[in-house]
Amino acid sequence: MLAAFACDPARSRGRRFAQAPAPTRTEYQRDRDRIVHSSAFRRLVYKTQVFLNHEGDLFRTRLTHSLEVAQLGRSIARSLALNEDLVEAIALAHDLGHTPFGHAGQDALNECMAEFGGFEHNLQSLRVVDQLEERYPQFDGLNLSFETREGILKHCSRANAEQLERSEPGGVASRFLSQGQASLEAQLCNLADEIAYNAHDIDDGVRSGLITIDQLAEVALFDDFRREAVAEYPGLRGPPQGRRLLYETIRRMLSAQVYDVIEASSTALQRAAPQSVDEVRRMPPLLQFGSDMQQRSQALKTFLLHHLYRHPRVLQTTGQAKLMVRSLFDAYLAHPQQMQRGIEERSEATSAERVVADYIAGMTDRFAGREHERLRGLKLLVGESACFV
Ligand code: MG
Repeated sequence: MLAAFACDPARSRGRRFAQAPAPTRTEYQRDRDRIVHSSAFRRLVYKTQVFLNHEGDLFRTRLTHSLEVAQLGRSIARSLALNEDLVEAIALAHDLGHTPFGHAGQDALNECMAEFGGFEHNLQSLRVVDQLEERYPQFDGLNLSFETREGILKHCSRANAEQLERSEPGGVASRFLSQGQASLEAQLCNLADEIAYNAHDIDDGVRSGLITIDQLAEVALFDDFRREAVAEYPGLRGPPQGRRLLYETIRRMLSAQVYDVIEASSTALQRAAPQSVDEVRRMPPLLQFGSDMQQRSQALKTFLLHHLYRHPRVLQTTGQAKLMVRSLFDAYLAHPQQMQRGIEERSEATSAERVVADYIAGMTDRFAGREHERLRGLKLLVGESACFV
């Protein structure tokens, strides 16, 4: 059922530590299972996507976001005869490296690590599955297959790519040095990620009251489907039906984007006609929106940036989150015995700063909050109306 350009588990580039095949599962199904059973995956449930974890029970967390990305990715993969299991594995792992408090946490940690190699969540996701998970007697990390690791490393700076390349020549970072692409399954996860967060940030944004359906009238991708929904179901107009109108609009938006990606990518794949994954890796990106949808999606992103991600209430709490991360970083560096795992356990190649950064990055929002209170005597962001990006 797989296309010639799909990743075939039987032809995987393999794992860093050779392991006998599993009797009933393919290599990518095995990767997905390892991810689902990891500690980092369980922590996603208490990590901020946009809205703070304690804000309300219905907002997305990193976990529900990752599940939505997997759902969208799988349904597109099936239509394009790509490998669904690989898409699922990459989608479920793509945000494992995120710090507590969303991008505010990452920015603060990156500033703390400026002199020590910086901090970047994509690279951290790879670090989690390659090194930080401690589950196997024979090796650190989850020992995932090349294709899953390639998909997890979505972005990488040149400096980081050069460093990774030294420890793994011709490995997952090579494409950032040779301007190559990742597999179509990896490309698909990037698009599914975008489709998912654009849609759920509208939903969560309206739920929080930070944006309104009326404001969204300026976004064509949203408003066209809102009109279509009201035309078909006039009863959706008016406040009592507000949420149903929102859901119906988002549902139509999601479907339109999924079909658009399938159509535009099918055309691109027919034209380029790659015969293998390695050919795909040498071609320009083939998984894509059509040009009209690309523009509409971009307009929606711009709207969310101005009206949600840079909302004054968001910016106010972002400052507090950064303060907490910086303050935790300084506290652990000065008193490493305050960490649950000793700094003396680190390997020679890992600086004390990196151990602290790994420790903070692994925290859930609520653990970071409790630790900040314990170490600094200051309770921040608790019971506040707050959200982050
Ligand atoms: Mg994501």
